[in-house]
Amino acid sequence: MNRALLNAVEAADSIGLTGHIHPDGDCVGSCLALYRYIKRVYPEKTVRVHLELPPENLRVAPSFDEIETEFVKPERPYDLFVVLDCSSAERFEPAKELVEDATNVFVIDHHMTNTHFANDGVILPNASSTCEVLFDLIDEDEIDNEIATWLYLGIIHDTGVFKYPACTEHTMNIAGKLLSKGVVAQRIIDDSFYRKTYEQNRLIGDAVTRSVLMLDGKMIYSVVTLDDLAKFGAQRKDTEGLIDQLRLTKGIEVAVFARQDDVDTYKISMRAIDKVNVAAICAEFGGGGHMFAAGCTVKGDLADAITQIAAMVMLQL
Ligand code: 5GP
Ligand code: MN
Repeated sequence: MNRALLNAVEAADSIGLTGHIHPDGDCVGSCLALYRYIKRVYPEKTVRVHLELPPENLRVAPSFDEIETEFVKPERPYDLFVVLDCSSAERFEPAKELVEDATNVFVIDHHMTNTHFANDGVILPNASSTCEVLFDLIDEDEIDNEIATWLYLGIIHDTGVFKYPACTEHTMNIAGKLLSKGVVAQRIIDDSFYRKTYEQNRLIGDAVTRSVLMLDGKMIYSVVTLDDLAKFGAQRKDTEGLIDQLRLTKGIEVAVFARQDDVDTYKISMRAIDKVNVAAICAEFGGGGHMFAAGCTVKGDLADAITQIAAMVMLQL
């Protein structure tokens, strides 16, 4: 076991935790697993999790309610800030001042595009998830049912429920150990991953219906505008899962999904089967991620951006 994280925690009296903007399963899972762990093993320390409000489907254990969604500065700066599942400083923008004020910053991550923004931490680009990295940094004997539940959540979300190539024998061994802590796998998988609201299902169905094939059927693309969201009474985060449906289209190599976040601002998600490095493409637009799952935000003309993306995909096919 690597004690780097626990050494940093033990040297601190007050600890802040954060992850990336628009928190996903791995972000929430890793932040709350570490939060619960510190509360359990070091009850004398002050620990707080600062995150934007995550989607409701990630509420799989009680400490979800202890997330602080206001990024208010504490009376005294934190001795230690642990930043989880976050590849660059822009990705934890709301907590930036709190992190900058902290005496020490420790990063735990698995993004190959991590910019190494702190001097201490563990970044393993081959790991399936930040939760997998975190498991190897804490004492297994101290993992209770809730900590296990949060770690399991992160692993299933970042592996697409144990199927992406980054899901290794080690990942599965960890998942097995988490089951031995009493994790109820079906409940977590169905509630947090597969279950959709009626509005979400309708929105996703509509976006799939409107999707277009490009590059001789090698690329599929769809978009959800602010008007579409309004039409189905849906919210931004209701588009989650849509890219996975597009990705399952037979014959494609790349799936691209654009969600309009503002009049001229679009969040792009990209997925590749196994030939195209979409992290490299998203990096051209100031984003990043993993080889086969990446994202970026584009401002301005969407059609222009999609044309550029298609050209970059074509070069890699
Ligand atoms: P998603 O498409 O699900 O939003 O993101 C897929 C992957 O790409 C995730 O691992 C996420 O962290 C990363 N990602 C998404 N958007 C961005 C972005 O704007 N910048 C960076 N650096 N990574 C992103
Ligand atoms: Mn992750």
